[in-house]
Amino acid sequence: MSTRIVILGGGTGGTLTANRLRRNHAPEDLQITVVDQDDVHVYQPGLLFVPFGMAHSDDIVRPRARQLHAGIDFVESAIHHVDLEHQTVYLSTGALLTYDLLVIATGARLVPEETEGLTGPGWMEKVFTFYTPEGAAALARALAGFEGGRLVVNVVDMPIKCPVAPLEFCFLADWYFTERGIRDKVQITYATPLDGAFTKPIASEALGGMLAERNIDVISEFNTGEVDGTAGKLIGYDERQVPFDLAVVIPLHGGAEYIARSPGLGDAVDFVPTDEHTLQSKVAPNVFVIGDAATVPTSKAGSVTHFEGETLIANIEHFIAGEPLEATFDGHANCFIETGHHKALLIDFNYDTEPQPGHFPGAVGLPLLKDSRLNHLGKLLFQSVYWHSLLPGRDLPGLTSIMPTAGKHLTTTAKEA
Ligand SMILES: Cc1cc2nc3c(=O)[nH]c(=O)nc-3n(C[C@H](O)[C@H](O)[C@H](O)COP(=O)(O)OP(=O)(O)OC[C@H]3O[C@@H](n4cnc5c(N)ncnc54)[C@H](O)[C@@H]3O)c2cc1C
Repeated sequence: MSTRIVILGGGTGGTLTANRLRRNHAPEDLQITVVDQDDVHVYQPGLLFVPFGMAHSDDIVRPRARQLHAGIDFVESAIHHVDLEHQTVYLSTGALLTYDLLVIATGARLVPEETEGLTGPGWMEKVFTFYTPEGAAALARALAGFEGGRLVVNVVDMPIKCPVAPLEFCFLADWYFTERGIRDKVQITYATPLDGAFTKPIASEALGGMLAERNIDVISEFNTGEVDGTAGKLIGYDERQVPFDLAVVIPLHGGAEYIARSPGLGDAVDFVPTDEHTLQSKVAPNVFVIGDAATVPTSKAGSVTHFEGETLIANIEHFIAGEPLEATFDGHANCFIETGHHKALLIDFNYDTEPQPGHFPGAVGLPLLKDSRLNHLGKLLFQSVYWHSLLPGRDLPGLTSIMPTAGKHLTTTAKEA
């Protein structure tokens, strides 16, 4: 009898899961349905480049359905809620889908309205986010017209998608204003809820040093309580104030909103409790989770989503065959960090090992924790790899799901900060 798999979300995780499963199994054995609210697949890492005129919003989007292999049903509809007990997904169109196995891949949602004043006066005029295509395009126009003053980059709170993206924005802003010949007229400040530039001590020290070299001020342990767009200031819960002429804010993130309407599915902020090694949800045995929607203690990143794919597919197959699951996902994350001037840094880590210096993936390879042109080229090339290899579910040479250690100068181990 054919097993019915419903995949909620046709972004990075949902697409690669559907394509890998389709390749491994005939349609008569496995019926695969992917649901997404729209047909616009955004290559989100490309959003970083849009404000600086290095990419256009149109260059980083493709139709969602076209990324799915033949033999996968695509349903374009918002999800209304999931009934775990009756194994049924209710869609906003009124239709419903029953499943034998459910994969949650609906990512993280921005909730700017949850910060007082953020979407009030000044929003999209002098307060922006580059985390959406519209926001990134509007910010490009604002930056082009910015002739000097205080630029503040602010992370309201963790977790956020790609925790290094706001730092990359700071580095690129430094380079952008230098190229325009007005760097001395722009004061760049990074206000973060963390106690340093990043969550992991070794990388945090390296990145903090690079911010200082570029004359970018860091305000740490800053928890934004309010954004006053009229007066141009961020107000912290501890009453500290950070004045700005232009603010680039990474809003609070939560899980998809249908999760709150689905009894027993999510936690308090609508992410889905998930076993960090098997990727089986903790809410029902036939529900698995991939990508940003999961509560696993590693970065919310496309690289993590890609590495999770291997364990997820194996465990879906084990589950269907009635076999024990494998606990193989190690939290592997791998991120290029643009530092401007055609250079980038690379970090590679997992649940137990924080980013270390050395080379990736082996003793000869891309430099780790050190900026280089090679890493920048790697970052630029990745867009093509994303569309042509990662989403179709092909194996990527050198990019294994288990974190490689061969090229690393391992000095310490640390559990996720
Ligand atoms: C600015 C920026 C830069 C980034 N840079 C990097 C980077 O350099 N490297 C890296 O590894 N990662 C990066 N990321 C993160 C990466 O894009 C995400 O971690 C990755 O896309 C997560 O995949 P996902 O499948 O979990 O979620 P997504 O790819 O976001 O897919 C979720 C899907 O669910 C759908 N959905 C949500 N709610 C509903 C609903 N109610 N009904 C129907 N459909 C719904 C959405 O439409 C979406 O298509 C970046 C992200 C941003 C925003």
